Amino acid sequence: LMEIKELKKNFNSQTVLKNISLGVEKGDVVAIIGPSGAGKSTFLRCLINLERRDGGSVNVEGIELNPDDKKSVKKVQQKMGMVFQSFNLFPHMTVLKNVMIAPIKVKKIDKSIISEKAKNLLAKVGLSDRGDYYPSQLSGGQQQRVAIARALAMNPDIMLFDEPTSALDPELVGEVLKVMKKLADEGMTMIVVTHEMGFAREVANKVIFMEKGNVVEEGTPEKIFNNPSEKRTKEFLEKII
Ligand code: ATP
Ligand code: MG
Repeated sequence: LMEIKELKKNFNSQTVLKNISLGVEKGDVVAIIGPSGAGKSTFLRCLINLERRDGGSVNVEGIELNPDDKKSVKKVQQKMGMVFQSFNLFPHMTVLKNVMIAPIKVKKIDKSIISEKAKNLLAKVGLSDRGDYYPSQLSGGQQQRVAIARALAMNPDIMLFDEPTSALDPELVGEVLKVMKKLADEGMTMIVVTHEMGFAREVANKVIFMEKGNVVEEGTPEKIFNNPSEKRTKEFLEKII
């Protein structure tokens, strides 16, 4: 579904991604773990050209992402939904409008059709009764669930999550992870940067440990969490679990 080869990224003179390669199959849930500054966010951002990569290739469903070709960028971006640590909802729009706005603006889909779909998506994330609220009237966990519904409204084939629960109070983390687990169970292809090792262990089928711009180790959750081959993976896990 997705093939990333030898992705490189520099900021000024600093090499942030060295040579990241990753294949993603349909239905994969890939968890990316690793210390702060490893390049996890930069990696995700390069996949949708929010950051321009400096080398390597990204191919999504047969489309080569070429930063110089706006059409290819748009095509790839339309296949992916992204959810960030900060929810980034439009503060002046209701919850329902937040979910509806991209399909209306970008895909020119009829309002009545998308309104129906948006309501279904809000039901899916457990927020049927909050469509008329504004983001500031919601808890962080609720806002993040709206952000997930908003990304899903564009019918992505792949969902990217960058530490979606890191900004949440601990008691709100579970409700967001539950929605993500449901998505995974329904077969959504997902790449998730996370510090939630329980989620990575339980929901992911592939875990990637990144450090200093490199993939240090990659494997099944059983392998990475129970029997890592690399000393650095072990040390990282011992520190955080
Ligand atoms: P965290 O777990 O803290 O979110 P991360 O693994 O997501 O960390 P990145 O945000 O990808 O790490 O950052 C990797 C490196 O790139 C860091 O050293 C960071 O300072 C640098 N960096 C990221 N964005 C920029 C930017 N826009 N300009 C310059 N340097 C940047
Ligand atoms: Mg990050």
